[in-house]
Amino acid sequence: MANQTALTTSISDVLVIGAGVVGLACAWSALKEGLTVTIVDRDFDGDRTSHGNAGGIAVTESTPISVPGLFFKATKWLFDPLGPLALDWKHVPSALPWFLEFQRASNPARFKEISVALAALNNRVYDDLIPLFEDVGAMGTFYRRGALTLYETDEAFHADADEWKLKKELGVRWRALNQQEVQECEPALAPVFRHGMFLEDWSHIGDPKQLVSQICTRVKALGARFAEGVVTRLDVTNQEAPFAVLQTGASIAARQIVVATGAWSASLAESVGDRVLLDSERGYNTTLPHPGIALSREVIFAERKFVATPLDIGIRIGGAAEFAGLEAKPNYKRSDALLTLGKRFLPGIQDEGAVQWMGHRPATPDSLPVIGKSPSAKSVIYAFGHGHLGLTQAATTGALVADLLVNRISRTPLDAYSIGRFRK
Ligand SMILES: Cc1cc2nc3c(=O)[nH]c(=O)nc-3n(C[C@H](O)[C@H](O)[C@H](O)COP(=O)(O)OP(=O)(O)OC[C@H]3O[C@@H](n4cnc5c(N)ncnc54)[C@H](O)[C@@H]3O)c2cc1C
Repeated sequence: MANQTALTTSISDVLVIGAGVVGLACAWSALKEGLTVTIVDRDFDGDRTSHGNAGGIAVTESTPISVPGLFFKATKWLFDPLGPLALDWKHVPSALPWFLEFQRASNPARFKEISVALAALNNRVYDDLIPLFEDVGAMGTFYRRGALTLYETDEAFHADADEWKLKKELGVRWRALNQQEVQECEPALAPVFRHGMFLEDWSHIGDPKQLVSQICTRVKALGARFAEGVVTRLDVTNQEAPFAVLQTGASIAARQIVVATGAWSASLAESVGDRVLLDSERGYNTTLPHPGIALSREVIFAERKFVATPLDIGIRIGGAAEFAGLEAKPNYKRSDALLTLGKRFLPGIQDEGAVQWMGHRPATPDSLPVIGKSPSAKSVIYAFGHGHLGLTQAATTGALVADLLVNRISRTPLDAYSIGRFRK
């Protein structure tokens, strides 16, 4: 195009769009293959979902969010203004196809199929994550201490029994704990939990933002070039020389392009000709830098749908699923509501210096990420839509993207994650 100028002088093998944990992991894997890489982000110093998450390596989460029966429970939650689920009614018309697909994901056969596909990613996470952590210097803040899922009532514990059984079949290791064992495991908890599940394969990191910065530093050292700018669309007219068009009118060309723009990825996929159902599932938390109590591991409050993680920077209490799109202002009353619950279940926790945060989980209705080549343009690879598991699956996504970049047959078949599943 006449008014476009090339931003970089020589063409990289790979252009990664998006410097969240997923894009950076893709860049790292590509560099390790000996490819040249340019990374473009609209704001390298700005906040992103990958900075403020709960820090959990949640490899046991191998069932989709849309569990059978959830749709009806969710309808009830909607009437609680500060409950675990919120919907901005103005957002409903545009989100309707997403919600219909979400409901379909809970069909028992589809639920099982999705779970198998999630387990195929989660069961290899440590094979991919540990080499990344070792290389970027993140092993010292990587805590393999398991996690604890908690139940206040027998009813809720028994209601989840089928899901736990399926998880075991999928390779998830868990051990049921009674009330006394829960208390011994985490003495700071209020003594109200009748059941617990100890998840030995779950782990957590010290600070998700620090991890992003460590990967950034390392990919720079490995030779990645960084370009700042908002990508508005991809031009794939020439499949051998695709390019990203920036808001300024400039363009960045590369031999292959990886789209890793998290919750903002749908419009870029559309510019290539691919339809996707992707929404922002907004989550909230509060980090308590001087909590005055201690937890050894992440705890998951099953009935209340929130978690508490003992990060190096304090205890982070968060959760919530709010569907209000990418533009609505945060409603930090949700962080307050989660903190109130946290105070109830972690008596004595101190909130001096508390920091609130909201982030956009890039959510597909079936809880599966989009990983794979574009069916419309062979030089475009997608790596987004990881929902609740973007930190967990980042290194694995990077490894799978690297397989695609160098045309290697992957040890994990990618069909289940293809964007083609959203074709009308
Ligand atoms: C409250 C909460 C708790 C969570 N807890 C966990 C957890 O414990 N474990 C876990 O595994 N996951 C967790 N997640 C999910 C996880 O944080 C996300 O799945 C993950 O961060 C997504 O990473 P990403 O790189 O795809 O996206 P992002 O981190 O959002 O990065 C996308 C990047 O793309 C850039 N970008 C976007 N559009 C453009 C454009 N047009 N041009 C240029 N650049 C662009 C943005 O600036 C950004 O840097 C949590 C999420 C939330 C909200």
